[in-house]
Amino acid sequence: MMIESTHVQEKTALDEPTAKNQRRQAKRPDAAYAICFHGEDFVPWADATIHVNSLAMRYALSVFEGIRIYRQKHDLVVRAFRLEEHLARLRNSLRLMRMPEPEGKDIAHILDELIRLNEIDEDSYVRVSVSPDNFGDIASQTRACLTVAATRMGRKRWLAEGQSMRVAVSCWQRSHELAFPSAAKNISNYAGPRLALLEARESGFDGVVLTNHEGFVSESPTSALFIVKDGVVLTPLLTDGVLPSITRAAVLEICETLDIEAREQRLSRTDVYLADEAFLCGTGVEFAPIGAFGGHVLKSWKEARITAQIIDAYFRIVRGESMKEIPEAER
Ligand code: PMP
Repeated sequence: MMIESTHVQEKTALDEPTAKNQRRQAKRPDAAYAICFHGEDFVPWADATIHVNSLAMRYALSVFEGIRIYRQKHDLVVRAFRLEEHLARLRNSLRLMRMPEPEGKDIAHILDELIRLNEIDEDSYVRVSVSPDNFGDIASQTRACLTVAATRMGRKRWLAEGQSMRVAVSCWQRSHELAFPSAAKNISNYAGPRLALLEARESGFDGVVLTNHEGFVSESPTSALFIVKDGVVLTPLLTDGVLPSITRAAVLEICETLDIEAREQRLSRTDVYLADEAFLCGTGVEFAPIGAFGGHVLKSWKEARITAQIIDAYFRIVRGESMKEIPEAER
């Protein structure tokens, strides 16, 4: 009798829409595609889970890549932008974090399958992560669990609405190279920059740029920084606490093709305050023109001619146009 009533109670409890039950049956956000790769196979989105006691959860270990797939101009299929570069950076992150690569997994092939199974035919974002799903203590060997999941993602607000950002220069610092390697794209590296962003938002800014331990500007929590001064495009050095961003590398290449002078160099707060134009760039945000740093107003979106030229070239390239196809007048 007692057993029966406990059983009934449990069943009823599970059916109730309590916060606990809702958490158990995580609802897939509309933008997320239904099928993802997790562990050894393709699974429904809700099954891509990792235990709370895994090394990933206990020690904030999980390296990842955000990759965009773009609808191509000529054949209208979707293709990943700079996949090889992303996979090379993922391998570097794993080496830096002393974690093994997932065994016997061809990520490029898994991505093709993911696109096919979800019938993806529009611009989207794919997150590839490698997380230790085994148990142990802080020094245990990790077992690599691979997850590849896709989300529909068009232009973010800045490009979609032609707006520019008001960006704060935070007093929170990017972690010193001696505290944590900035080239390791591990989730733990986002906890501090997140605090900087929340603080900046609470103060009425749209975004934030962190400085490094010497007070030079580095990057935003999830994107690289560029400024334009007297016609020259400048971005902080990779050794100043900056992730080797794939979009950053693409922008430097675009500048070379367009004959725009571009340099990597140390940038101080003063440099960014006195910039003519500035923008953030990265896989997720793509581009976000900056209209002001703190209270220092830069050129408006419409006047930011060099930023606009770079953005235009970028979107041609991601859709499969070669640089040669860019009209001479625009180069
Ligand atoms: N910096 C950080 C810390 C990032 O997380 C990202 C996003 N990956 C970027 C810069 C931009 O890098 P990418 O262009 O490769 O997306």
